[in-house]
Amino acid sequence: MDVAIIGAGLAGLACAHELERYDIKPTIYERNSYIGEQFSHVGALLELVDRPIVDSINYIKKEFNIEIMPLNIMNRLISYSPNRTYEVKGKLGYFTKRNKEPDDLKKQLYAQLNNTEVKFNEAGDYETLKEQYDFVVVANGAPSFAKELGCFNELFNGFVRGAVVLGEFDPHALLVWLDKDYCKNGYAYLAPFNAKKAFLGLVIPDVNESDADSYWELFKNAENLKYPVVEEFKINHISGFVYPHKVSNILFAGNAGGSMEPFLGFGVFNSIVMGVMAGKSIVTGLDYEDLLKDIVNKNKQKYQLRKLVNMATNKGYDNAFTVVSQPGIRQLIYNTSIDVVKHGANIVKFLTKNK
Ligand SMILES: Cc1cc2nc3c(=O)[nH]c(=O)nc-3n(C[C@H](O)[C@H](O)[C@H](O)COP(=O)(O)OP(=O)(O)OC[C@H]3O[C@@H](n4cnc5c(N)ncnc54)[C@H](O)[C@@H]3O)c2cc1C
Repeated sequence: MDVAIIGAGLAGLACAHELERYDIKPTIYERNSYIGEQFSHVGALLELVDRPIVDSINYIKKEFNIEIMPLNIMNRLISYSPNRTYEVKGKLGYFTKRNKEPDDLKKQLYAQLNNTEVKFNEAGDYETLKEQYDFVVVANGAPSFAKELGCFNELFNGFVRGAVVLGEFDPHALLVWLDKDYCKNGYAYLAPFNAKKAFLGLVIPDVNESDADSYWELFKNAENLKYPVVEEFKINHISGFVYPHKVSNILFAGNAGGSMEPFLGFGVFNSIVMGVMAGKSIVTGLDYEDLLKDIVNKNKQKYQLRKLVNMATNKGYDNAFTVVSQPGIRQLIYNTSIDVVKHGANIVKFLTKNK
C-alpha cells in the first residue's frame, strides 16, 4: 500500500511510526530541509487538561510504543491574575523541547522511524498526491487544505508572540498570567528550558499583527519583565473544528485536522494521537471519525470552557484565584482525578462570578 504524508511534524511522524508497525513504508513530503521547529520554544503537557489520562507520556509509550523524553517534569504552577497569585505544587505535567536541537520533540519521533522515506525541501500538494498514492495524510500543521475542501470551521484566529529570554528560573515551574488588559481572552506564560533560559509567550486572540506587538509591550511593562531577549518571533495561530476528517482517500491529522484544542491552544498530545489514528485507520479500515471521537468530544468540551472564560472579567479572574486557593478546592482540583474539562463549565461558572 502506498501512503503519502504531507508534513514531518508531530502528526505526520506519528502516522509514519504507526504505519511502520504494520510494515508499510510511507513517504513523507516535508517542505523544510530539516526536522524540528522554526522557532525555539518550550511546550507544556498539562495533566489537568489531559484527564482522564493521568500521564500523557506514559500513555503514548504504552498505547503507541512511541518514546518521549521530556525536557523536564513540571511540578510547580504559579498563576497571576491582576491582583492575586496562586501557586500549586505536585505532579502537574511535563515540559518538552521544541527547537532544532537533537532532543527536540519532533526529532525524537523521527529517530524512532526505520523505513520511512522523507523527501526534504518538497512541498506536498494533496490534489496531485491523491492521484499517485492509495492514501494521503495531510499533516502540514495548518488548516489550509481542510479549508479548501470546505471541512474547516474556524474558532480561534490570533497571534503567538514569543521570545527566548535569559534570567534565573525554576526549570520545573510554569508561570501563567491572566489579564484581559494585555492578553484579551488569551494568556501569557513562561516555560523554562533550564535554570538560565526560558520561553516567554503571549497568546492573544482576535488581533492583527501590529496589535500583537502592542499587547506584547503592554504585557512586559505591566509585569515589569526585563529579561534580556536572545530570540523573538510572532506567528499566526489558527484553530478550529474539522469535519469530516476524511475526504475520499485524504485524511487530515494534527493541526490540519483541528487537533489544537480551543481552550489553551495545546495540540501536542492530540496531534500525536491523530497521526497514529490516521495510520491505524488506513491499515485496518476502521472508521477514522470513530477513532477520533474522544479527541473531538474533548475539544468540544474545551470550547465550551473557552466561551465561559471569555465572558469573565479581571475581577472574575481574581475571584477564581481566591476560590481555588482554598485548601479544600485545591485538593479537589489537583489531588484527585476529577475530569476538570468535563465538569469545567460548572466549575468556571462558579469560580468566575463577578460579584
Ligand atoms: C509557539 C507555540 C507554542 C505551543 N505550545 C504548545 C504547548 O505548550 N503545548 C501543546 O500541547 N501544544 C502547543 N502548541 C501547539 C502544538 O505545537 C501543535 O499543535 C503541534 O505541533 C501540531 O503538530 P502538527 O504535526 O499538526 O504540525 P507541525 O508540528 O506544525 O508540523 C507540520 C509540518 O508540516 C510541514 N509542512 C507545512 N506545509 C507543508 C507542505 N505543503 N508540504 C510539506 N510539508 C509541509 C511543516 O514544515 C512542518 O514540519 C504550540 C504551538 C506554537 C506555535
